[in-house]
Amino acid sequence: MHPFEYIRVTDVRQAVARAAAGPAAAFLAGGTTQVDLMKDGVLAPQVLIDITGLPLRGVTAGGGVLRVGALTTMEELAADPIVTQRLPVVRESLLLAASPQLRNMATVAGNLLQRTRCRYYRDLSCACNKRAPGSGCDALDGHHRMHAILGTSQHCIATHASDLAVALVALDAVVHVRGAGGERAVPLTGFYRAPGEDPSVENALEPGELITSVEVPLLPEGARSGYLKVRDRASYEFALASAAVALVITDGVTRDARVALGGLATVPWRSRAAEEVLRGAPVTPETCAAAAEAALSGASPRTGNAFKVKLGQRTVARALSLVAGLPG
Ligand code: FAD
Ligand code: SF4
Repeated sequence: MHPFEYIRVTDVRQAVARAAAGPAAAFLAGGTTQVDLMKDGVLAPQVLIDITGLPLRGVTAGGGVLRVGALTTMEELAADPIVTQRLPVVRESLLLAASPQLRNMATVAGNLLQRTRCRYYRDLSCACNKRAPGSGCDALDGHHRMHAILGTSQHCIATHASDLAVALVALDAVVHVRGAGGERAVPLTGFYRAPGEDPSVENALEPGELITSVEVPLLPEGARSGYLKVRDRASYEFALASAAVALVITDGVTRDARVALGGLATVPWRSRAAEEVLRGAPVTPETCAAAAEAALSGASPRTGNAFKVKLGQRTVARALSLVAGLPG
């Protein structure tokens, strides 16, 4: 591990000022991503700012919105009674992630900002444009079974690893951030950056900006939602494909639909195309299949992950059927 300075802060203003002062600083929350990557030499901040003492923990609701402090743990959010009643898609995305031990350490903001699990990113002997811009991408012609088929570029095909982010993108959540220039709110649908020419830029945060909270609009009463995750083993594993779905159904017709995909794309992937197919249509297996096909339109698989097109379609169709309560 590279030498670094460790400091603890107890005030948001102090955290932001310290991060802005340089040299290259990073925040430490639960540490379940940050510390691993520092041990591997992938991240090497000169200053590590421990933010666990900041008053940014807890969940409140009001005005149709859930406000989640950045330091709320994954387990705390999953256990929240309003999340349980009104946002099952969020609860399921959390409880299908990592392990209970990790979820008790890991925070909501840290989860949204976790790094890709691409093995080449974590191996300093490999070419990786995300870790070392301009060095190339060993995944393109390497082992890319787990990699993305949506939102890729010729410079990076890594998936975004967060399950929670997929649910929150479907729900139009908003991230609140504080930086040296003040506060701002960023819709999560516009927060993540597809790799494009520079995969090292992953999101809309400016250097030194701190996430303070996430606002999640509650689904209307009577809406149904759920998260389906397909993976190589039943627990403690990242998604090969996942789908977050929320539906408002009356008289057998879908009035509103939200669909987002995980494990398939370089960013948590909202599928407006699938939503358009569903809105105003009768709730049938045929509509679910048509929406699933639309969700994967534009996929660009490689030889090692071509199976993900069918897998993704089946995951979306199954998630829709389950949430809609269709038989089988
Ligand atoms: P940290 O490690 O402390 O920080 C992560 C990043 O976020 C760092 O860059 C840090 O600087 C930055 N950061 C943290 N808080 C803030 C803030 N408030 N403002 C600005 N920057 C901030 N995740 C899933 O979604 N699904 C899984 O199935 C899954 N499985 C896992 C299995 C294993 C074995 C492990 C180790 C992790 C797994 N994870 C999974 C990832 C895990 O959920 C993340 O590591 C965790 O959520 C990160 O949160 P943290 O608080 O520990 O973040
Ligand atoms: Fe790096 Fe992305 Fe290529 Fe993986 S897929 S090696 S993260 S550039």
